[in-house]
Amino acid sequence: MSARDESRYSRYGECACCGQKGPLTGRGLVPAHHRRYRVQGTLGDWPTEAELVEEDVRMVLATGAPYTVVAARCGISTRRVNRIVARWRLGVVAGAGPVSGEVLGPVRAA
Ligand SMILES: [Zn+2]
Repeated sequence: MSARDESRYSRYGECACCGQKGPLTGRGLVPAHHRRYRVQGTLGDWPTEAELVEEDVRMVLATGAPYTVVAARCGISTRRVNRIVARWRLGVVAGAGPVSGEVLGPVRAA
């Protein structure tokens, strides 16, 4: 792998599918496995970091916690919580088109 490839991965850790240690792609997979799922057409089964953050925000918000607490619990800024909620209000969910109705409820069963 070239130095240029390395720079594409901001995280180092355990692959989401098998626990192998290495640089991780945006979906938490080592590059070889990211490629494998892309080729298989099942890459969408592995949530992106942004999707995972949104899921966390959704779960903590459901407890009725204020945005500042949600931000602290999810390790993000209050501003980012505001942006995520604003996007939900507009009916835009990451990876999916506009949705109707229950945008503030859980999208996936946890
Ligand atoms: Zn893996």
